[in-house]
Amino acid sequence: MSQDNLIKLECTNCKTVGYHSLKNKKTLKQRLELRKFCRKCKSHQLHKETK
Ligand SMILES: [Zn+2]
Repeated sequence: MSQDNLIKLECTNCKTVGYHSLKNKKTLKQRLELRKFCRKCKSHQLHKETK
């Protein structure tokens, strides 16, 4: 199994990596951006894909 599609989602507010996700490179070419609950910020923040 390849790990190539495993990405981290980093909180844009506090830079904490709170989530991991799988990305299908064939269908998703741009960076993933999701609003998720950040435990550190204790609120919903925009999380961006990071390596
Ligand atoms: Zn945060």
